Amino acid sequence: MTCPQCNETLNLLAINTTDGKEKNIYECLDCGGHFLENYLVNFISTETAHNIDSVLPKKHNQLRSEIKCPHCGQIMFAIQDDEGIPKTVTVYNCPNSHGDFFPKGDLLYFKKAQDAKVNYHKLWGIPLKTAFAVIIPLFILFTSVTVLPSLIREVNNSKETRIKASELTSTPLVTPLSDTEVLISFSTSNQVTTKIIFVSGVNKTYTVSETPDTNHILQVKGLAPSTSYKYIIVIDPLGKNIQTGQYTFSTP
Ligand SMILES: [Zn+2]
Ligand SMILES: [Zn+2]
Repeated sequence: MTCPQCNETLNLLAINTTDGKEKNIYECLDCGGHFLENYLVNFISTETAHNIDSVLPKKHNQLRSEIKCPHCGQIMFAIQDDEGIPKTVTVYNCPNSHGDFFPKGDLLYFKKAQDAKVNYHKLWGIPLKTAFAVIIPLFILFTSVTVLPSLIREVNNSKETRIKASELTSTPLVTPLSDTEVLISFSTSNQVTTKIIFVSGVNKTYTVSETPDTNHILQVKGLAPSTSYKYIIVIDPLGKNIQTGQYTFSTP
């Protein structure tokens, strides 16, 4: 494969992802750019991005006026969500979903900006539209377990047992994929099965993790645009149904 920016042969580089997998990315030793398969940028740590992006460009080739996907040759478009990424960061995305190209330095800038936004969201629990206008919409985001002081109730028990939500679940992150489709992701400190029950906007129950896991992700389709939805998460550690408080998001 050749570099989308300078046409030199790309170098394969194995990296470890934050979810414990080994993945390959492509780096250009000539211009210092990186090509990552779709979504992969969300599964690398800022430290990894720092290491990757420390590659020193060998030379400065004539740069192409158009950035082309190394897989399909289609022109990759700069993601220009004004609020999505700082103006100093340029990310090119393949229209056929092959991946993203980050010119030299932009991978690290992007990860730093993403970290800052995720931390901001965790800290303030700001609603979706504000929080996620600042992240490239098609990227999935995982958070680690947070320490928000919200409470959840044990519902199977007539006696209300209050448990700190932070002991069980992170604040879910909702990422819009389109105006009718979102991804809801959250993590739990222990391996548990989980469900999401919509209580407003639509009445539906979704199984998120059928087998016990710590990372949970649900893709919800067929939503209405510009609509507000409320849902609760049901966590099942050791056969107890524990439900969170209500979370809200709005489709774009
Ligand atoms: Zn290059
Ligand atoms: Zn492509």
